[in-house]
Parts: sequence; C-alpha cells; structure tokens
Amino acid sequence: MNIYGYKCKKCGTVHYPFRTTCKKCGAFIFEDKADRYQLVPLSKEGKLLTFTRLRSLPGDFDVPELLLGIVQLDDGNRITGQLDIPAPKLGMKVKGEIRVVRQEGYNTHRGIVFEAA
Ligand SMILES: [Zn+2]
Repeated sequence: MNIYGYKCKKCGTVHYPFRTTCKKCGAFIFEDKADRYQLVPLSKEGKLLTFTRLRSLPGDFDVPELLLGIVQLDDGNRITGQLDIPAPKLGMKVKGEIRVVRQEGYNTHRGIVFEAA
C-alpha cells in the first residue's frame, strides 16, 4: 500500500497533501481537473525532523499514548505519521508502512507508521 502525492504535469513537482496551485510553477491543479496532475507514490523512507508524545487521547483509543512525528521523505515531501520507535532521535533514518492506526466501530483508519530504518 502507498500514500500518493500529486505531481504537477507542467513542471513535475510532487505535492502532498493536495494543493490547488503548484508551489513551484503556480499552475492551477484543481481537484476536478485530474488531467493536470498525476498520482505518484510517495517515498516511504526519510529522516525524522521532530516528534511529540500524545498522552491525552480520546477514550476510544486503546493505547495509553501515541508518538507522532514529522518526516522529511527522501523525495522532498514532509509527512506526519505515527512512530513505532521506543526512543526516537531527531535526524534518525526512518522507514514507513501503511497500517491500521485506529478501529472505530466498523470504520478502519489506516495511516503511515514509521520505524527505525
Ligand atoms: Zn508545477
């Protein structure tokens, strides 16, 4: 499973999350004009920029705390994901995979979870 970015067909810049205009060339890439961008899988490896530990979660989480990190992917995009790393260090190499991050009744939520690379 992958997370996809939006590649501007005019200049090739990959955006994540979606933007209405290209951050490099300014071209409009409206969501209903799928011919103006191409979905491309984002890199799953990168470097941990920062992280935080959440301890006051809503009652339907069945874990006592969550680690969330911002990762600079090797393709240049930044992404927020959970960390499955007991003692994270800033700048460490990480590798992500898509996992179930929350089960809410019949709704299954998937997201990217990073481990030490
Ligand atoms: Zn562009």
